[in-house]
Amino acid sequence: MKSLLALGLIATAFAITCPRRFDSAKVFRVKPQNEKQVSFLKSLASKIPIDFWYPDSASHIVNQMEVNFLVRAEHSNTTKTLLEQNGLHYEILFQNLQEEIDKQLERNSPDSYSYTKYNEWHKISAWTARMAEKKPKLISRLQIGKTFENRPMYILQVGKQKDSKKAIFMDCGIHAREWISPAFCQWFVKEAIRTYGKDKVMTNLLDNMKFYILPVLNIDGYIWSWTSDRCWRKNRSNVTSNKCIGVDLNRNFDAAWGTVDASKDPCTENFCGPSAESEPETKAVATFIRSHLSSIKAYLSIHSYSQMILFPYGYTLNKAPNHDELNELAKKASQAIASLYGKKYKYGTSALTIYPSSGCSDDWAYNQGIKYSFTFELRDRGKYGFFLPESEIKPTCQEIMLAVKLMASHILSRTM
Ligand SMILES: [Zn+2]
Repeated sequence: MKSLLALGLIATAFAITCPRRFDSAKVFRVKPQNEKQVSFLKSLASKIPIDFWYPDSASHIVNQMEVNFLVRAEHSNTTKTLLEQNGLHYEILFQNLQEEIDKQLERNSPDSYSYTKYNEWHKISAWTARMAEKKPKLISRLQIGKTFENRPMYILQVGKQKDSKKAIFMDCGIHAREWISPAFCQWFVKEAIRTYGKDKVMTNLLDNMKFYILPVLNIDGYIWSWTSDRCWRKNRSNVTSNKCIGVDLNRNFDAAWGTVDASKDPCTENFCGPSAESEPETKAVATFIRSHLSSIKAYLSIHSYSQMILFPYGYTLNKAPNHDELNELAKKASQAIASLYGKKYKYGTSALTIYPSSGCSDDWAYNQGIKYSFTFELRDRGKYGFFLPESEIKPTCQEIMLAVKLMASHILSRTM
C-alpha cells in the first residue's frame, strides 16, 4: 500500500534531522457515491498534501471505493469543509496519529523479542541467527545481498532436505510501514519448526520441500519506519540527484517496469527507480530467485493492508495462462482463512482486485516461469490500516498460516 505527494519533499527533508511528527494528523475514510464525488476526491489531492493509504494514489479512486487517507493537522479543517461541501460523508479513523505511534513505540522494550509484538530490525536479525543455531537440521541462514545502506539481507532456508528439489520463496516487508508483514514471516518459521513431526501437513511439507523465507526485504526502510517516519514505504536509496529519497521496491522489478501505476518522480510514493532492478534489495532477490529457478515452484509476497489474495497480472488485464488454477487456489485459501475467525479476504488478479500496477515482484516471478505467484494483503480493511494493533498479530498469522499451508500442499502435489 502506498502514497504521498508533494509533501514528501518537505517531510523527507525534515525527517533527516528529526522524526516526522504526526501530531493531530487525521486519517479519513470516505466512500464516493457518484462520479462527481470521485473527481472531487481526485482534485482534492492536488490542493492538499494527502498521504493515500488506500488506494495508493488518487488515480485509482473509483465510485463506491472505500478510500483512506492521511492529512496533516494544518489541513484537516479545510479537508472537512471541502468534504462536507461536496456531500461526502466521512469517518475519522485516527484523530491524532502521533498518539497511536507513541503507544506502539512505548510498548516496545529494547531487548525482548516476541512473536506477538512488532520487533525492531536488530531483534529480527538476531532472531535469524538464533533460529539457525537452534535448529540446524531444519534451518540454515543465507545472506543474499546487502541493502542500500549496506546491511546484510538474510534468508532462512527451512526444510529437512537441504537439496530438496522443490522450494517456495516467501518475502515479507517490501513496504516499510506494513509491520504485520515481517511479523508473519517470523511466525511462519516458528510454527514450521514447532509443528514439524507433530502436524501431518507441515511434516510432509518440510520433508519434501524447502521454504526460503526473507523476513524483511526492505530493511533500511523498515528501520526508518521505526526511527524516523512510521508511515515510510520505500527503501532509503538516493541514487537520483533529487532531494527525495527512496524507491518503491515493489515497482522496481523487471515486469512491464515503469508503465502502469509507477511514477518516474522520485518524490512520489510509487517511484519505480531509475531503471528496473536499480535497487540493491530488488537485485538481490531477483538474482537469488534466478539462480534457483529450477527448484522454486512458488513465490509468495506478504503485504498489508486490505485483506486480499492477489495473483498475476497487475500490469495487464489479460489472464495468466493458468488463471483458473490460481483463482481456484486463491479461493480455497480465502475459505481457509475465513474458517478460523471469519475474516473475508477478496481474491483475484491484482489488476482487477486491487488496482493495475507494474514492476511488481509477483508478476516478475511469474514471468520467470514460477507458475504459482501470489501477493497477500493482510489485515485489516482500514480501521487501523498500517497501525494494526499487536493484539491482532496472532490471529492474523494463524489465519494466513492456514492459507500458506494449503497452497504449499497443493503446489507440492502438482509440481515435478
Ligand atoms: Zn505493500
